[in-house]
Amino acid sequence: MDYEAVIGLETHVQLKTKSKMWCGCANEFGAPPNTHVCPVCLGLPGVLPVANDEALRLTALTGFLLNCTVTRYAKFDRKNYFYPDMPKNYQITQYDKPSTINGWVEFEFKGGLARVRITRAHLEEDVGKNFHFERTSGVDFNRAGVPLMEIVSEPDITSPDMAYEYLNALKDILVYGGVSDCDMEKGMVRCDVNVSVRPKGQQELGAKIEIKNMNSFSGVRKALEYEIPRQTEVLKQGGKLIQSTRRWDDAAGITEEMRTKEHAHDYRYFPEPDLMPFQPTDAWVAEVRKRVVELPLARKQRFMRDYQLPASDAQTFVWDVLLGNYFEEEVRSIPAEIQGERRAKKIKVVANFIINNLRAEIARQSEMPSSEISSKGEIKEARPYPIHGLIVDLANLVENNTANSSTAQVIITEMFRTGKSPATIIQEKGLAQVTDAGAIEKLCDQAIAANPGPVGDYRAGKAAALNFLKGQVMKLSKGKANPALAGEILERKLKG
Ligand SMILES: [Zn+2]
Repeated sequence: MDYEAVIGLETHVQLKTKSKMWCGCANEFGAPPNTHVCPVCLGLPGVLPVANDEALRLTALTGFLLNCTVTRYAKFDRKNYFYPDMPKNYQITQYDKPSTINGWVEFEFKGGLARVRITRAHLEEDVGKNFHFERTSGVDFNRAGVPLMEIVSEPDITSPDMAYEYLNALKDILVYGGVSDCDMEKGMVRCDVNVSVRPKGQQELGAKIEIKNMNSFSGVRKALEYEIPRQTEVLKQGGKLIQSTRRWDDAAGITEEMRTKEHAHDYRYFPEPDLMPFQPTDAWVAEVRKRVVELPLARKQRFMRDYQLPASDAQTFVWDVLLGNYFEEEVRSIPAEIQGERRAKKIKVVANFIINNLRAEIARQSEMPSSEISSKGEIKEARPYPIHGLIVDLANLVENNTANSSTAQVIITEMFRTGKSPATIIQEKGLAQVTDAGAIEKLCDQAIAANPGPVGDYRAGKAAALNFLKGQVMKLSKGKANPALAGEILERKLKG
């Protein structure tokens, strides 16, 4: 009998706000322990929470980015449990009335597109962090009360690889939208994995087994690669799986049981009495909607469609938003009358200059961040780009044979450093491509005279020797000879 896995993910993401969810303490990673705390986030008696409006906005924005319905009535509940890192002994969370419901994420998978439905993205608060020392333990409450969003997927995921790609797509969307930095090293994204196995074709789900608190996407994939065969094996042996919670041991590469359903928590949810239900106005929702950005996948598809770029180039412009924006501006300076194949060819030359040369130049000039997204979701430009039109000018000079591929490299480097136009650089440096057959002929004669060995090889049938001789001609011309013409003349002379 064949078995199949059914996987759903609960992804917790720290929101990119200046302050915490219910108080004015800074939402900042890396400060000395217990320096961003106050009576509210320490859960002292008598304090009252005030909801962070930006966290509510970022949650609604996530709803839009994930194709969800942004609800007009959300409320907060208390989820009661005792744990030392949570001083109130309850977590404030959206339970039965979340801010967003019913959406989906689309992403590239196995050469096609996959879609995972989103049940909800709701807002809650993070807890502190326990540290265990040799003889004592300590709690750092800097993280307690940081706004946390939980994104719950439907059980639409069928394999470890699909879970991995879904998580990466989700992360890219949240970073693009300015919702979260999703820095895994800083623990900004954590996952709970729900996985069950059932005989193929069976409608009813198998016993749900949860793997808690995963903090890397590759960890999620590895845990599933272990857990699915484990469950399958139990069923094959005629065993029975029961609903339970497990922990992933990354060092050992196994999952271990933590508790079974009999010991499951009863969280005794009830409405948070200190917070009004949240009922956003039309104006508030419209303001949030304005912050919706083009998603990474849509951008990639648009770059491939509108500019006929290969997937790898489009992907580069998705990863590096500023570079992609610069490319689009540059393409706008190609005259509209250039159309069809000629336009596509020119765009590709421009893309190559930007991806290969401009990127290297940016790396050389500075260690500037590749892009910086402000809290309002706008991208701040922080790079020394050449003024628009210059790269297209250079592409024109390549097209009309004034520059060849090797002089173009010299020109573009000079252009980035001086800001001068390619035409000026060609003139000043005497870099114009030599297309005068007479001049090239002389260089070919020199190359033939100086290299009797390769000439003999070529005449004896070694066709590759021609490339060597062509290289000598290019060298003699200081890279300026038209390579195609040089090849033709050499071949004619050697055969003659
Ligand atoms: Zn506080």
